[in-house]
Amino acid sequence: MARYTGPACKLCRREGTKLFLKGDRCLSGKCAIDRRNTAPGQHGAATKKLREYGMQLREKEKTKRYYGVLERQFVNYFEEADRTKGMTGENLICLLERRLDNVVYRMGMAASRKEARQLVLHGHFTLNGKKVNIPSLIVKAGDVISVKEASRASVKIKALAEELATKSAPKWLDVDKNGLSVKVVTLPARDDVDFEFNEQLIVELYSK
Ligand code: SF4
Repeated sequence: MARYTGPACKLCRREGTKLFLKGDRCLSGKCAIDRRNTAPGQHGAATKKLREYGMQLREKEKTKRYYGVLERQFVNYFEEADRTKGMTGENLICLLERRLDNVVYRMGMAASRKEARQLVLHGHFTLNGKKVNIPSLIVKAGDVISVKEASRASVKIKALAEELATKSAPKWLDVDKNGLSVKVVTLPARDDVDFEFNEQLIVELYSK
């Protein structure tokens, strides 16, 4: 599976905003955006005024990078959002929120989406009682995601479970902190996503 393996902070600097790709570091004084919020490269500090296409492109890249999705998969999500009733842009964000790796991150069992993806890939979770290892799986209302019994004794999972006790989840997820599981109470609405996207720009980009 293709995946970006370069420096994560460079992506934030390119988009000019925190994308929260490195867990606790993003909230510390070491965050590259807090220390040097300029685009990477020799001329990164020069201020460039983006034209319409540039703004649309950057919004798409920012969204892809925030959720850790590559181009082809992102286009598939867009097409599905377009086929679904309602506003395409809002559908797109809600669809991305429903990825299994995002749910694991949102419930608080991982410090970043990247870590959540790793945990899912390594088979530490079950979906409705069955083992699952597909980070891009789209969850449905009523689904229950749990840490696999056999994984609960691992040092890594124990440490994450301790962290979980200090975290809060969005209201569309009902987290059982002792049981290390989460139920998707309802599908996420656009208002449930606490990050600034201008999804209309993405719709305009793909509508050309
Ligand atoms: Fe982005 Fe986190 Fe790096 Fe800050 S520390 S630049 S938020 S990945």
